[in-house]
Amino acid sequence: VTDPAREWRAEEDVKEGYPRLPASAHKGSRGKGLLIGGAQMMPGALVMAAKASIRSGAGLTTAATVPGNIPSAAGSLPEVMFMGTEEVDGVISGIDTDSLTGKDAVAAGIGMGRKEPGRAVMETLLKETKVPLLIDADGLYHLRFLLDVLKEREEVTVVTPHVKEMADLTGESTGEVKRNPFSISSKFARDYGVYVVLKGPHTIITAPDGRQIVESSGNEGLAKGGSGDVLTGILLTMLMQHEHPLEALANGCFLHGKSAELLTAGERTVYDLLPTDVVEGLSSVFRTYI
Ligand code: AMP
Ligand code: MG
Repeated sequence: VTDPAREWRAEEDVKEGYPRLPASAHKGSRGKGLLIGGAQMMPGALVMAAKASIRSGAGLTTAATVPGNIPSAAGSLPEVMFMGTEEVDGVISGIDTDSLTGKDAVAAGIGMGRKEPGRAVMETLLKETKVPLLIDADGLYHLRFLLDVLKEREEVTVVTPHVKEMADLTGESTGEVKRNPFSISSKFARDYGVYVVLKGPHTIITAPDGRQIVESSGNEGLAKGGSGDVLTGILLTMLMQHEHPLEALANGCFLHGKSAELLTAGERTVYDLLPTDVVEGLSSVFRTYI
Protein backbone atom coordinates (compact mmCIF):
# COMPACT_ATOMS: atom_id res chain seq x y z
CA VAL A 1 0.00 0.00 0.00
CA THR A 2 1.35 3.39 -0.95
CA ASP A 3 1.48 6.01 1.75
CA PRO A 4 -1.74 7.98 1.28
CA ALA A 5 -0.18 10.94 3.07
CA ARG A 6 2.63 11.59 0.64
CA GLU A 7 2.45 15.27 -0.01
CA TRP A 8 0.94 15.17 -3.47
CA ARG A 9 -1.98 12.95 -4.45
CA ALA A 10 -2.71 12.78 -8.16
CA GLU A 11 -6.12 11.85 -9.50
CA GLU A 12 -4.68 8.50 -10.65
CA ASP A 13 -3.81 7.68 -7.05
CA VAL A 14 -7.49 7.52 -6.16
CA LYS A 15 -8.05 4.70 -8.62
CA GLU A 16 -4.87 2.94 -7.53
CA GLY A 17 -5.90 2.91 -3.89
CA TYR A 18 -9.60 2.31 -4.42
CA PRO A 19 -10.93 -1.05 -3.16
CA ARG A 20 -11.68 -3.38 -6.05
CA LEU A 21 -15.19 -4.72 -6.49
CA PRO A 22 -14.84 -8.34 -7.61
CA ALA A 23 -17.53 -10.09 -9.64
CA SER A 24 -17.98 -12.38 -6.64
CA ALA A 25 -18.97 -9.44 -4.39
CA HIS A 26 -21.94 -9.84 -2.08
CA LYS A 27 -23.63 -7.25 0.06
CA GLY A 28 -21.76 -8.33 3.16
CA SER A 29 -18.40 -7.83 1.49
CA ARG A 30 -19.34 -4.28 0.43
CA GLY A 31 -19.94 -3.27 4.02
CA LYS A 32 -22.79 -2.73 6.43
CA GLY A 33 -23.19 0.78 7.77
CA LEU A 34 -25.33 2.47 10.39
CA LEU A 35 -26.34 6.12 10.18
CA ILE A 36 -27.83 7.80 13.23
CA GLY A 37 -29.42 11.22 13.05
CA GLY A 38 -32.45 13.31 12.30
CA ALA A 39 -34.91 15.00 14.61
CA GLN A 40 -38.61 15.67 14.22
CA MET A 41 -37.95 19.01 12.51
CA MET A 42 -34.90 17.84 10.52
CA PRO A 43 -35.64 14.73 8.47
CA GLY A 44 -33.61 15.72 5.39
CA ALA A 45 -30.01 15.33 6.53
CA LEU A 46 -30.38 11.63 7.26
CA VAL A 47 -32.16 11.00 3.97
CA MET A 48 -29.39 12.71 1.99
CA ALA A 49 -26.64 10.90 3.87
CA ALA A 50 -28.33 7.51 3.51
CA LYS A 51 -28.79 8.05 -0.22
CA ALA A 52 -25.16 9.09 -0.55
CA SER A 53 -24.06 6.03 1.39
CA ILE A 54 -25.82 3.55 -0.88
CA ARG A 55 -24.90 5.45 -4.07
CA SER A 56 -21.26 5.38 -3.10
CA GLY A 57 -21.39 1.61 -2.89
CA ALA A 58 -22.46 0.43 0.56
CA GLY A 59 -23.68 -3.16 0.69
CA LEU A 60 -26.31 -2.41 3.29
CA THR A 61 -27.13 0.86 5.04
CA THR A 62 -29.37 1.13 8.08
CA ALA A 63 -30.67 4.52 9.17
CA ALA A 64 -31.76 5.09 12.75
CA THR A 65 -33.95 8.10 13.48
CA VAL A 66 -36.97 9.29 15.44
CA PRO A 67 -39.95 7.06 14.65
CA GLY A 68 -42.11 9.83 13.21
CA ASN A 69 -39.66 10.46 10.36
CA ILE A 70 -39.48 6.89 9.17
CA PRO A 71 -42.57 6.57 6.94
CA SER A 72 -41.60 9.44 4.63
CA ALA A 73 -37.86 8.66 4.70
CA ALA A 74 -38.44 4.99 3.99
CA GLY A 75 -40.83 5.93 1.18
CA SER A 76 -38.11 7.87 -0.59
CA LEU A 77 -35.32 5.34 0.07
CA PRO A 78 -36.54 1.80 -0.56
CA GLU A 79 -33.01 0.32 -0.47
CA VAL A 80 -32.28 1.59 3.04
CA MET A 81 -33.30 -0.24 6.23
CA PHE A 82 -34.80 1.93 8.95
CA MET A 83 -34.82 1.66 12.70
CA GLY A 84 -36.73 3.77 15.20
CA THR A 85 -34.82 5.30 18.13
CA GLU A 86 -36.05 6.41 21.52
CA GLU A 87 -37.32 9.99 21.39
CA VAL A 88 -37.76 12.85 23.85
CA ASP A 89 -38.80 16.37 22.89
CA GLY A 90 -38.58 15.59 19.16
CA VAL A 91 -34.96 14.41 19.26
CA ILE A 92 -33.18 11.06 19.54
CA SER A 93 -32.75 10.23 23.23
CA GLY A 94 -31.51 6.67 23.08
CA ILE A 95 -30.51 3.91 20.73
CA ASP A 96 -30.64 0.14 21.01
CA THR A 97 -26.95 -0.81 21.21
CA ASP A 98 -27.77 -4.19 19.61
CA SER A 99 -28.04 -2.23 16.36
CA LEU A 100 -24.27 -1.61 16.51
CA THR A 101 -23.56 -5.33 16.25
CA GLY A 102 -22.43 -6.57 12.85
CA LYS A 103 -21.79 -3.11 11.41
CA ASP A 104 -18.55 -2.17 9.66
CA ALA A 105 -18.83 1.56 10.43
CA VAL A 106 -21.20 4.01 12.12
CA ALA A 107 -21.86 7.70 11.40
CA ALA A 108 -23.82 9.87 13.82
CA GLY A 109 -24.90 13.41 14.49
CA ILE A 110 -26.43 14.83 11.32
CA GLY A 111 -29.68 16.72 11.80
CA MET A 112 -30.07 15.38 15.33
CA GLY A 113 -30.44 18.80 16.96
CA ARG A 114 -28.64 20.19 19.97
CA LYS A 115 -31.15 19.45 22.69
CA GLU A 116 -29.81 17.82 25.80
CA PRO A 117 -31.13 14.24 25.25
CA GLY A 118 -28.75 13.84 22.31
CA ARG A 119 -25.69 14.06 24.50
CA ALA A 120 -26.29 10.72 26.21
CA VAL A 121 -26.77 9.14 22.79
CA MET A 122 -23.37 10.39 21.65
CA GLU A 123 -21.80 9.21 24.89
CA THR A 124 -23.24 5.73 24.39
CA LEU A 125 -21.96 5.63 20.82
CA LEU A 126 -18.46 6.71 21.84
CA LYS A 127 -18.36 3.95 24.44
CA GLU A 128 -20.15 1.12 22.65
CA THR A 129 -19.19 1.43 18.97
CA LYS A 130 -16.40 -1.08 18.32
CA VAL A 131 -15.96 -0.15 14.64
CA PRO A 132 -15.01 3.19 13.03
CA LEU A 133 -17.31 5.95 14.29
CA LEU A 134 -17.76 9.18 12.33
CA ILE A 135 -19.21 12.21 14.11
CA ASP A 136 -20.58 15.19 12.21
CA ALA A 137 -22.77 18.26 12.62
CA ASP A 138 -24.88 18.31 15.81
CA GLY A 139 -22.97 15.26 17.00
CA LEU A 140 -19.91 17.53 17.10
CA TYR A 141 -21.85 20.02 19.20
CA HIS A 142 -22.48 17.32 21.80
CA LEU A 143 -18.92 16.05 21.50
CA ARG A 144 -17.46 19.22 22.97
CA PHE A 145 -19.02 18.15 26.30
CA LEU A 146 -17.72 14.60 25.92
CA LEU A 147 -14.04 15.18 25.22
CA ASP A 148 -12.96 13.09 28.21
CA VAL A 149 -15.00 10.16 26.84
CA LEU A 150 -13.49 10.73 23.39
CA LYS A 151 -10.01 10.54 24.86
CA GLU A 152 -10.76 7.14 26.40
CA ARG A 153 -12.09 5.68 23.15
CA GLU A 154 -9.70 3.24 21.48
CA GLU A 155 -11.34 2.42 18.16
CA VAL A 156 -11.11 4.58 15.01
CA THR A 157 -12.98 7.87 15.40
CA VAL A 158 -13.48 10.49 12.70
CA VAL A 159 -14.71 14.06 13.19
CA THR A 160 -15.82 16.11 10.18
CA PRO A 161 -16.12 19.75 11.28
CA HIS A 162 -16.31 22.86 9.12
CA VAL A 163 -14.36 25.85 10.41
CA LYS A 164 -17.00 27.02 12.88
CA GLU A 165 -17.51 23.51 14.28
CA MET A 166 -13.73 23.11 14.58
CA ALA A 167 -13.53 26.38 16.48
CA ASP A 168 -16.27 25.31 18.87
CA LEU A 169 -14.69 21.90 19.35
CA THR A 170 -11.24 23.26 20.16
CA GLY A 171 -12.20 26.49 21.91
CA GLU A 172 -10.26 28.52 19.32
CA SER A 173 -11.78 31.44 17.40
CA THR A 174 -12.87 30.85 13.80
CA GLY A 175 -10.18 33.36 12.75
CA GLU A 176 -7.53 31.27 14.47
CA VAL A 177 -8.77 28.06 12.81
CA LYS A 178 -8.66 29.80 9.42
CA ARG A 179 -5.14 31.11 10.05
CA ASN A 180 -3.73 27.82 11.36
CA PRO A 181 -5.90 25.00 10.02
CA PHE A 182 -3.03 22.52 9.77
CA SER A 183 -1.62 22.93 13.25
CA ILE A 184 -5.01 23.13 14.95
CA SER A 185 -6.20 19.97 13.16
CA SER A 186 -2.99 18.23 13.99
CA LYS A 187 -3.14 19.14 17.67
CA PHE A 188 -6.73 17.94 18.02
CA ALA A 189 -6.00 14.73 16.10
CA ARG A 190 -3.00 13.92 18.30
CA ASP A 191 -4.55 15.02 21.59
CA TYR A 192 -7.64 12.87 21.13
CA GLY A 193 -6.30 10.14 18.85
CA VAL A 194 -8.83 10.86 16.10
CA TYR A 195 -9.00 11.51 12.38
CA VAL A 196 -10.01 15.10 11.57
CA VAL A 197 -11.64 16.15 8.31
CA LEU A 198 -11.59 19.95 8.42
CA LYS A 199 -13.98 20.91 5.64
CA GLY A 200 -13.87 23.96 3.42
CA PRO A 201 -12.82 25.04 -0.08
CA HIS A 202 -9.70 22.99 0.66
CA THR A 203 -10.36 20.10 3.01
CA ILE A 204 -7.57 19.06 5.33
CA ILE A 205 -7.60 15.44 6.46
CA THR A 206 -5.42 14.59 9.46
CA ALA A 207 -4.57 11.19 10.96
CA PRO A 208 -4.06 10.63 14.71
CA ASP A 209 -0.30 10.51 14.08
CA GLY A 210 -0.41 13.94 12.45
CA ARG A 211 -0.10 12.91 8.78
CA GLN A 212 -2.12 15.25 6.60
CA ILE A 213 -3.70 15.24 3.15
CA VAL A 214 -5.27 18.22 1.40
CA GLU A 215 -8.20 17.45 -0.89
CA SER A 216 -8.99 20.37 -3.15
CA SER A 217 -11.67 19.00 -5.43
CA GLY A 218 -15.08 20.62 -5.27
CA ASN A 219 -16.27 24.17 -5.78
CA GLU A 220 -18.50 26.92 -4.39
CA GLY A 221 -21.59 25.08 -5.61
CA LEU A 222 -21.11 22.92 -2.52
CA ALA A 223 -21.62 25.91 -0.22
CA LYS A 224 -25.19 24.92 0.57
CA GLY A 225 -27.00 23.19 3.42
CA GLY A 226 -26.90 19.44 2.92
CA SER A 227 -23.47 19.16 1.23
CA GLY A 228 -21.91 18.06 4.49
CA ASP A 229 -24.61 15.44 5.04
CA VAL A 230 -23.89 13.96 1.61
CA LEU A 231 -20.18 13.83 2.49
CA THR A 232 -20.99 12.00 5.73
CA GLY A 233 -22.87 9.30 3.83
CA ILE A 234 -20.02 8.88 1.36
CA LEU A 235 -17.39 8.75 4.11
CA LEU A 236 -19.41 6.12 6.02
CA THR A 237 -19.23 3.86 2.98
CA MET A 238 -15.53 4.59 2.37
CA LEU A 239 -14.69 3.74 6.00
CA MET A 240 -16.36 0.35 5.72
CA GLN A 241 -14.61 -0.52 2.48
CA HIS A 242 -11.04 0.76 2.81
CA GLU A 243 -8.36 -0.81 4.92
CA HIS A 244 -6.83 2.53 5.89
CA PRO A 245 -9.06 5.30 7.29
CA LEU A 246 -6.84 8.09 5.95
CA GLU A 247 -7.18 6.79 2.42
CA ALA A 248 -10.90 6.19 2.93
CA LEU A 249 -11.41 9.80 3.95
CA ALA A 250 -9.27 11.23 1.15
CA ASN A 251 -11.06 9.13 -1.47
CA GLY A 252 -14.48 10.05 -0.06
CA CYS A 253 -13.70 13.77 -0.15
CA PHE A 254 -12.46 13.33 -3.71
CA LEU A 255 -15.68 11.59 -4.85
CA HIS A 256 -17.79 14.34 -3.25
CA GLY A 257 -15.81 17.24 -4.69
CA LYS A 258 -15.37 15.69 -8.14
CA SER A 259 -19.08 15.03 -8.41
CA ALA A 260 -19.74 18.74 -7.92
CA GLU A 261 -17.04 19.65 -10.45
CA LEU A 262 -18.32 17.31 -13.16
CA LEU A 263 -21.91 18.43 -12.63
CA THR A 264 -21.10 22.13 -12.83
CA ALA A 265 -19.03 21.55 -15.97
CA GLY A 266 -22.15 20.09 -17.59
CA GLU A 267 -25.83 20.23 -16.80
CA ARG A 268 -25.65 22.25 -13.56
CA THR A 269 -23.99 25.47 -12.47
CA VAL A 270 -22.49 26.48 -9.13
CA TYR A 271 -25.66 28.51 -8.54
CA ASP A 272 -28.28 25.80 -8.80
CA LEU A 273 -26.31 22.69 -7.78
CA LEU A 274 -28.07 20.75 -4.99
CA PRO A 275 -26.55 18.28 -2.55
CA THR A 276 -28.91 15.64 -3.91
CA ASP A 277 -27.44 16.28 -7.39
CA VAL A 278 -24.02 15.55 -5.91
CA VAL A 279 -25.32 12.11 -4.90
CA GLU A 280 -26.55 11.40 -8.43
CA GLY A 281 -23.32 12.78 -9.90
CA LEU A 282 -21.32 10.00 -8.24
CA SER A 283 -22.05 7.81 -11.28
CA SER A 284 -19.93 10.07 -13.48
CA VAL A 285 -17.12 10.18 -10.94
CA PHE A 286 -16.96 6.39 -10.72
CA ARG A 287 -17.09 6.09 -14.50
CA THR A 288 -14.33 8.65 -15.00
CA TYR A 289 -11.96 8.07 -12.12
CA ILE A 290 -12.45 4.63 -10.56
P1 AMP B 1 -21.01 21.47 5.66
O1 AMP B 1 -20.37 22.76 6.01
O2 AMP B 1 -21.05 20.51 6.77
O3 AMP B 1 -22.36 21.62 5.01
O4 AMP B 1 -20.10 20.78 4.54
C1 AMP B 1 -19.92 21.42 3.32
C2 AMP B 1 -19.20 20.53 2.33
O5 AMP B 1 -19.07 21.22 1.09
C3 AMP B 1 -17.79 20.18 2.74
O6 AMP B 1 -17.42 18.94 2.19
C4 AMP B 1 -16.97 21.31 2.11
O7 AMP B 1 -15.64 20.94 1.86
C5 AMP B 1 -17.71 21.54 0.83
N1 AMP B 1 -17.63 22.97 0.43
C6 AMP B 1 -18.32 24.01 0.97
N2 AMP B 1 -17.97 25.18 0.39
C7 AMP B 1 -17.05 24.87 -0.56
C8 AMP B 1 -16.29 25.64 -1.51
N3 AMP B 1 -16.44 26.98 -1.60
N4 AMP B 1 -15.42 24.99 -2.32
C9 AMP B 1 -15.28 23.64 -2.25
N5 AMP B 1 -15.96 22.86 -1.37
C10 AMP B 1 -16.83 23.46 -0.53
MG1 MG C 1 -22.41 20.13 8.24
